Amino acid sequence: MAEAISILGSTGSIGRQTIEVAENIGLKVAALTANRKTDLLEEQVRRLRPEFVAVYDETAAKDIKIRLADLNVRVASGMEGLIEAATLNSVKSVVTAVSGSVGLKPTLAAIHEKKRIALANKETLVCAGSIVMKTADECGAEIIPVDSEHSAIFQSLSGRDRSELKKILLTGSGGPFRGRKRAELADITPAQAVSHPNWSMGAKISVDSATMMNKGLEYIEAMHLFGVKPEDIQVVVHPQSMIHSMVELIDGTVIAQLAVADMGLPIQYALTYPKRLPSMFQHLDWTAMRDFTFEAPDLENMPCLALAMRAAKEGGIMPCVMSAANETAVHMFLAGKLGYNQIYDAVLDATEAMGNVAEPDLDTIIEADASARVFVAEHYSK
Ligand code: MG
Repeated sequence: MAEAISILGSTGSIGRQTIEVAENIGLKVAALTANRKTDLLEEQVRRLRPEFVAVYDETAAKDIKIRLADLNVRVASGMEGLIEAATLNSVKSVVTAVSGSVGLKPTLAAIHEKKRIALANKETLVCAGSIVMKTADECGAEIIPVDSEHSAIFQSLSGRDRSELKKILLTGSGGPFRGRKRAELADITPAQAVSHPNWSMGAKISVDSATMMNKGLEYIEAMHLFGVKPEDIQVVVHPQSMIHSMVELIDGTVIAQLAVADMGLPIQYALTYPKRLPSMFQHLDWTAMRDFTFEAPDLENMPCLALAMRAAKEGGIMPCVMSAANETAVHMFLAGKLGYNQIYDAVLDATEAMGNVAEPDLDTIIEADASARVFVAEHYSK
């Protein structure tokens, strides 16, 4: 616990919550990275006094270097800067909270240095799950999930022999448009899509929750993290977000993890694992709970989830193509350049246009990622 942490993506939603948790439990922060939000980053650096800061965007890096000239902090930029932040000597755990596939290389670099990975970047496992898990195994690096569902599965499986696992029950709220028909969603605006009923999250993941692509990405992530086949994972819609996921054991017993819907909790657990500490989060009030319901996901009206489940079965570069195409399409939607239902259309087109490659290496994955982005940007620009 005395060792410091590094936060990749400190200005995003998970990054900001990680800082709150670290301050609350007295954990030293040695490095911060951001893409380009320099105002917030400067504020964080002045408060936490890390030894190292990296800004991915070159122009923003120059700006922050000037602003922080009075402090004893090293500033770097680009992918090299992110990798250095992930591999600093003084760092024990790396929180990978960047959004998108930019997290892949720094995460692998940290694994090679045997850092504990508090994994909050879905794309890392979705795109390169086989490579990442194999490397972690070879290097003896721990990967502790931060995503609430995977943290719940991880906690439910803790201390249990893997041969006792029958299946994973991956829960999800169903998002803000649960129960609506796809045809009714054509005119959904970015503001409507990002207003999630239970969770407060960044814009990209909020849109993914609305389309249920988020659950699809989590499905693929769970496959890799827990070494199970797609057919061993069942998606269960649980609108109250009280249960964060469950495991069913071979004797029929189900073990669930429940807590308030606050990302700070799985973040704290990933940082203190295997210990638990008191937290600043609310405890569940069982007298205030009314409904506690479950239903099957509506794959017809949430086709992104069905698409992700198919990509999970196909494997190869398909999960990466799908995720990259989705990321581009969501950013275009948020920028007003794409309709809400076109997110699915764009992702489907990209996966159909690009042929699959079995057992891809890292370069093939990175190329597929880039091609999928170009495909969506070119075919769907207004
Ligand atoms: Mg989640």
